[in-house]
Amino acid sequence: MTDYEKLADLLFPQIDKDGTYYENKYPARNLKEGAKVTRFAPSPTGFLHFGNLYTMLVAYRTAKNSDGIFYVRVEDTDQKRKVEGAVEVMLKSLAAYGIEPDEGVIGENQEKGEYGPYRQSERKDIYQAFAKDLVKQGLAYPCFCTADELDEMRSRQENEPQKGYWGKWAKCRNLSLDEIQKKINDGAEWTLRLKSPGTPEGKCRFDDAIKGKIEMPENIQDVVLLKSDGIPTYHFAHAIDDHLMRTTHVIRGDEWISSTPIHLQLFRVLGFKPPKYVHVATIMKEENGGKRKLSKRKDPEAAVTYYSQQGYPKDSVNEYILTLANSNFEDWRRANQTAPLEEFPLNFKKMSVSGALFDIVKLTDVSKNVISKMNAQKVFDLSYQWAKEYNTDLAALYEHNKDRAKAILNIDRENKKPRKDIAKWSDIPDYISYMYDETFTPCYDLTGNATPSLAVKVLEKYIDTVNLNDSKDEWFGRIKDMCEAVGCTPNVKEYKANPENYDGHVGDVSTIIRVALTGRTNTPDLYAITELLGENTVKQRLEAALNHYKEEM
Ligand code: GLU
Repeated sequence: MTDYEKLADLLFPQIDKDGTYYENKYPARNLKEGAKVTRFAPSPTGFLHFGNLYTMLVAYRTAKNSDGIFYVRVEDTDQKRKVEGAVEVMLKSLAAYGIEPDEGVIGENQEKGEYGPYRQSERKDIYQAFAKDLVKQGLAYPCFCTADELDEMRSRQENEPQKGYWGKWAKCRNLSLDEIQKKINDGAEWTLRLKSPGTPEGKCRFDDAIKGKIEMPENIQDVVLLKSDGIPTYHFAHAIDDHLMRTTHVIRGDEWISSTPIHLQLFRVLGFKPPKYVHVATIMKEENGGKRKLSKRKDPEAAVTYYSQQGYPKDSVNEYILTLANSNFEDWRRANQTAPLEEFPLNFKKMSVSGALFDIVKLTDVSKNVISKMNAQKVFDLSYQWAKEYNTDLAALYEHNKDRAKAILNIDRENKKPRKDIAKWSDIPDYISYMYDETFTPCYDLTGNATPSLAVKVLEKYIDTVNLNDSKDEWFGRIKDMCEAVGCTPNVKEYKANPENYDGHVGDVSTIIRVALTGRTNTPDLYAITELLGENTVKQRLEAALNHYKEEM
C-alpha cells in the first residue's frame, strides 16, 4: 500500500465505494444523438431573479429543442442559507413560465429520475468517494491551515505577482503521512485541497458556446474541494454532479467564467469529459446613460414574482425573453406571426456577449401585442385567475356577470386590427372602469372643437335620438344626422375645407357623447360600449353630463 493509499484510508475510513462504482451506477444516458442535457442548479434561497428565469428558459428550450433532458439539482450545501419552502417557491415560479423539469427535484420533498439524489446535501458519500480516489492518486491532500495562518500568508504575499494557496505557499502540500497522522490524532481540523497540476505559464483554453474562444491563465491554486465538515465547495460539487448526472451543456451566469479554469482542471484530474460551457451574460439596465446589472436590491422587476403580481401573462414574458435572448427573434416573429414560441430555433451564437438590456417599455409593447391576439375568453380566464389572487375587487366586478365581463373584454378584439390597450392584467381595472357604475368616475374635459355650449346642444338631441336597438350603422347614421341641427357637418373633409362654416364635425359630436358616457376622449368602439352600458346607464350619464355642461356655460 502506498502512502497515498494509506492517507486516503486515514481521511475517509468510512468510504467503501470508489468513483468506478458511481460511474457504473450512473451510466451515460440513453438519448438520441445530439440530445442535450441541461439543468437548473439553484441555491434554495426562494428568490428567483429575472436573470435566472432568462437563463433557465434558454436551458429549458435547449433541452426541449433537442429531445433532451432538463433537470433540477438543488445546491443546498450551505445550510446556513437554507430557507424553508424555498425550493417549492422557485419551482412554482419556473412552472408559471412553462418550465417543468423532466427530472430531479420536482417538489419540496419529491424527486424523479435515475441520477439522484438531486440535492447536494444528500450526496456527501459520492463527493467523498471521488475525493478519496484523488487522495489515493496523490492529487489532493488535507490542509490544516487555520484562518489566522491563511491571513498571515496573504499579508506576506502583498508584493507577489501570484497570490493564494499555491506552489511554495501551499504549506500543507508536502506534509508526510506521519505529520498528517499526528495532526489528526491531535484532533486538528482539515480541509481537502486539490494539488493543482497547473503552472504560472500554463493556459486554459475553451470554446464557450456564447462567448466563443476564451484563453485564460490555467489554475494554479490548490483550491479547497471539501470544507472541514466534509461538504464540497461549489467547484468540486459542480464537477462531480454535472459529470454523474451526464449534463452535456452547463448553462449558467457568466460570473462563473473566471472559475472555469478551476472547473476544467477538476474535470481533467477526475478523468471526466468536460461539458460544453454556455455562459449567459447578466441582464443589464440602462441608468443615467450608463449600464448596470439588473439589481435585486434596486429594481422591483428583478424579481420574477413582480411579473405575476403585475399580471404579465406567461406568453408575454416568454416572448420578451426571447427578444432579449436572440437578436433575430423579432424577424422570426414577423415571418411566423402565429407560430408557438417553441418553434423558434434558439441559437447560442446569437446571444449577447456583453449583457442584454432590460427594457420595460419593450416588454409592455411585446405584451400588448401578445394580449391583443388572445380571444376574449382567454383574456377573461387569465385575468380572472390573476384577479382572484391579486385584485379581488376586479374579481368581484367580473362575478356580477361573467358574460358581460367577457363581452366588455371582447370590444375591438378578435378582428384584423385588435386594439392594444392592455399590457398586463393590472391594467384592466382602469381600462374597464367606466363600464361599471361602481368604478366610473366622470370627467367632462373636452378636446378639439367640442365646447360646453356645443355639448349642451349635442346631448340634448342625442338623449332623444339614441336607441339601443340600433345596428351599428343605424346608430352612426343617427349621429351623423344630428350634425346639421347642432351646427356641425357629418363630413370631416368638408369641415377641413371650410372650418369657418361650422362649429365642428361628426368627430367632435362623437367626442362629446364619448366623454359623457365614459369620461374619456379615447376608448374602444363607442357603439359596443353604449350597448353594453345599457339603456338606464346611458340615459343617466347623458343627463348628468348635460347638467354639468349647462352649469359650466
Ligand atoms: N448554485 C449555483 C448558483 O446558484 C449554480 C450555478 C450553476 O448553474 O452551476 O449560482
